[in-house]
This record gives sequence, C-alpha cells and structure tokens, in this order.
Amino acid sequence: MAEAKKKTITRFGTRYGRTIRERLATVEAGYRGKHKCPYCSYTNVTREAAGIWSCSKCKAKFTSKAYQLTKPTPVKGLEAKQDE
Ligand SMILES: [Zn+2]
Repeated sequence: MAEAKKKTITRFGTRYGRTIRERLATVEAGYRGKHKCPYCSYTNVTREAAGIWSCSKCKAKFTSKAYQLTKPTPVKGLEAKQDE
C-alpha cells in the first residue's frame, strides 16, 4: 500500500511540498483501482466521475462520495412515500 501511494505522487517530482503530495496520495489511493461492490460483493467497482461509481460485474451504477466509496445508506421515509 505504501508503495502504491508513492507511485502516484512521483509524477510531481520534488514540486509542491511533501505534505500536500502525501495528502493527495491518500486521496488517490481511495478512489483509484477496484473496490468492493455493495450489491454483488465482487471487487469490480470503479469510479466513473465525481460521486458516480459503477460495477462491471452486475452493471450497477450508483452514487457515493466523490473520492471514496462508502456503504449505501437507506433513505429515510422512502417506504412511507411508496405506500401513498
Ligand atoms: Zn456489482
């Protein structure tokens, strides 16, 4: 993991300062690569755009945080609305 973090920030060379480069590496490690799908549990979820994630296994497309995948939260009051 530490090596993967270093890899992404080597493109900046010595520029912009160490702290900022390391913070960026932490963020990039959060959204690059494949993540576990909340629907089919396969590790096939990739980030499409800010907040948009898609699974290539079950073709699910959903929203989450812009730079990191979080567990989907159930919407409160949605069931009550559907009953009306
Ligand atoms: Zn899936």
